[in-house]
Amino acid sequence: MQDYKIDDVCFSISRYCPGKCVNCNIWKEEVKKEDEINLSIYETILQSDILKDTFYFSLTGGEAQLSKKYLEVIKLISKYKSKAIVQSNISGWYPSIHYKTVKTALEYLGKNSLNIDISVDGIEEDYKKVRLTKNGWEKVKETTNLLQQLNVRITYVMIIHKQNYKSIEAFIELCKQRGVRWYIGFSVESDNFGNRGKIEAFTNKELEFIENTLKRIGYFETKHIVNWKWAKAVYTNQMPLFSCFMGTRAITVDSDGEVYPCGGGQENHLKPILSMGNVKEYNGNLEKLLYNKKALKVLKSIEEKKCQPCSLLCAHKTIFPWGKGTGM
Ligand code: SF4
Ligand code: SF4
Repeated sequence: MQDYKIDDVCFSISRYCPGKCVNCNIWKEEVKKEDEINLSIYETILQSDILKDTFYFSLTGGEAQLSKKYLEVIKLISKYKSKAIVQSNISGWYPSIHYKTVKTALEYLGKNSLNIDISVDGIEEDYKKVRLTKNGWEKVKETTNLLQQLNVRITYVMIIHKQNYKSIEAFIELCKQRGVRWYIGFSVESDNFGNRGKIEAFTNKELEFIENTLKRIGYFETKHIVNWKWAKAVYTNQMPLFSCFMGTRAITVDSDGEVYPCGGGQENHLKPILSMGNVKEYNGNLEKLLYNKKALKVLKSIEEKKCQPCSLLCAHKTIFPWGKGTGM
């Protein structure tokens, strides 16, 4: 029998996002809220025996904190997974909503169990090129100040794109000044973000510039270095095959209940290989879903590397030729 050991679950709470970004087009989508999974399904999922050792939940979207379900899901996580860590990404564009939501979330979870990531993508001049919501930069600052009053762990996230790669060091400086942590990720073309063919490729010289900057900031000494090596291999079209344990060690449940091993399930060409089933059809019985033929076939396909070469850059239960992924 297939041995699942699911450490992490990613819940995409709702894809609704009224924002506006250059490198992500989720904001253009029309979201059918009636198709989203309801709270009783979340509750059944969270009680599942197959998640008994799961300790990490990621709540994403869209702008997940605008969903009424967001706090309810946190409440359920705190009820059934009292030791779990919850990580959640926000735009920072709704200061009072973020403040009230995080304040309540902390009452359920406690400050050591909640991590808030704010998408910042560099310094002010970069920000205005990629994140187009009016006064977004100022709103992020206001949100940061408000959340800092709550003593919650805040991380500024910078996804490296052609528009901002020169500002990595300035971004780190900004994070130091604001007293927040930093995280650097790398841009990826994806159907999920609706940006295929719209991401400008880096030249070799630019990749060298990024690599030298990452060395200067000490990134090579962090466990995240594997992700840069992965990104560089993708950007230079030299992707090796690797071992991937997404699916057995981590799953994603999208807002409509589709279960995937990783974000790859939201890519058109990978969906037929990676779709494990819809949890609504199982009334939230995740265990039954994960042991159905379709889900087991997905795990076999992953083992046989049928979904590779993989350029998702977000998977963490991986073993690359250059080292272990951050979740191993
Ligand atoms: S990056 Fe985030 S804030 Fe921007 S459009 Fe996509 S989901 Fe919305
Ligand atoms: S190799 Fe890539 S697409 Fe396949 S399961 Fe792993 S992360 Fe997902």
